Amino acid sequence: MSADLHDVPGLGTPADTEWETVVGLEVHAELATATKLFSASPNRFGGDPNTHIDPVSLGLPGSLPVINEEAVNLAIRVGLALNCQVQTSVFARKHYFYPDMPKNFQISQYDHPINVDGWLELPSGKRIGIERAHLEEDTGKTAHVGGGGRIHEAGYSLVDYNRAGVPLIEIVGGPDLRSAEEARQYVTELRAILVAVGASDGKMEEGSLRVDCNVSVRPEGTNRLGTRCEIKNVNSLRSMGRAIDYEARRQIDLLTSGQLVEQQTRHWNEDEGRTHALRSKEEDYDYRYFPEPDLLPLVISDHKVAQIQNELPPLPQDLRRNLAKAAPSVDADLIGLIVERGLYDLALAAFDQTSGNLRAIKRLRNHFAHDLAGGHGSLLAKALIDLVNMEEAGDLTATQAKKVLAVLVESGGSPQDAAQELGFEAMDTGELESLVDSLIAEHAEEWSRFCDGDGKLTGFFVGQVMRATQGRADGKVVTQLLNSRRG
Ligand code: MN
Repeated sequence: MSADLHDVPGLGTPADTEWETVVGLEVHAELATATKLFSASPNRFGGDPNTHIDPVSLGLPGSLPVINEEAVNLAIRVGLALNCQVQTSVFARKHYFYPDMPKNFQISQYDHPINVDGWLELPSGKRIGIERAHLEEDTGKTAHVGGGGRIHEAGYSLVDYNRAGVPLIEIVGGPDLRSAEEARQYVTELRAILVAVGASDGKMEEGSLRVDCNVSVRPEGTNRLGTRCEIKNVNSLRSMGRAIDYEARRQIDLLTSGQLVEQQTRHWNEDEGRTHALRSKEEDYDYRYFPEPDLLPLVISDHKVAQIQNELPPLPQDLRRNLAKAAPSVDADLIGLIVERGLYDLALAAFDQTSGNLRAIKRLRNHFAHDLAGGHGSLLAKALIDLVNMEEAGDLTATQAKKVLAVLVESGGSPQDAAQELGFEAMDTGELESLVDSLIAEHAEEWSRFCDGDGKLTGFFVGQVMRATQGRADGKVVTQLLNSRRG
């Protein structure tokens, strides 16, 4: 082994070494402008192929780019929301050949990006560095026809330039993430920020948010970064997590068996659940960057930065802080979920109305944690509080409340009306008592075993009551009645 190989973190370490996964993410987000970055064609997903095009999108000779001010404004919003410095930036040509990129270069930003040196705070409070967030144009799309859409087996390929020239912001995070789960939290938070500031719709499934993962490993407790691989083609948070876990395992296996990790770009294959090598990773010099001669440096006044800063809406982390103050008994994980699911306003209003009633707060927490995963729909805060009050008063069982809540989310209205429609009239206590007494008489043998202390018989009697009342009775009240009858 040559001397410099002794420096490779983790190479040839024993099988029982503890490993640390190091992840840095590059996220491309399409900016939600009306038109493209350098031309007036619409920036719109879908449409018939090659209908949102013009000479600039097609890179025709003699056509010249004109910068879209709205894209610049959105890029600044993103930069400020990510605590970046906004600076004078220079567009650069990044050269590579691809059929869906007609100029054979992409207009991007290189050594003078518009946003630098920021950070993003995860719900856990951990800060992840943002190295840069720069503007660039998107490419078109190729479609391989025949052979199941794979290039190698295709009969021919078609190209659609509708996406060519759509404005992108590329957000390069530092190598600060330590697991697939942290990477998931990061993308979730970043997406929430992009949506909150109106920069992007954040739809991973339509490709408006695309994630490349840089993954390396090193023995726990060491500081140097190992050789990384970049993984492309993760189309969902789930496949991103799988890809990171797979790739870390692959690298650990290489290093523990005395082999080197080669710096590569790798492709995630969702069906096979593995990554495979696409190409050796390019270095910057492969792209022959030089300043774009058709565009001036982008100078942004302090006044403009201050104005955009003032217009920034509250960010997810602000919402989490407010909510934690308003509902101190709700743990941080649930607060994160509430904000992520767009339930902030509802939660703030609802917790505000509990006036410290601990049991009502607990019921609310349960509803937010388990019954509102799909968002609040048509549910209003007042209806949610009325529902909790009905549960408190014993008018609804927990199971019934869940069903009423589903109706309120679906079609709004009051919980009283929904409960009535579902046939959840509160059971009259007298009615329930006589039912319990008749069941005791009917099942004398079970009753005597219950009285002898056989706990299993509680379930038996509660079940009988539930069947007789079609689930309208409150299990807790029935148990109390049974115990009081035992004397
Ligand atoms: Mn890029």
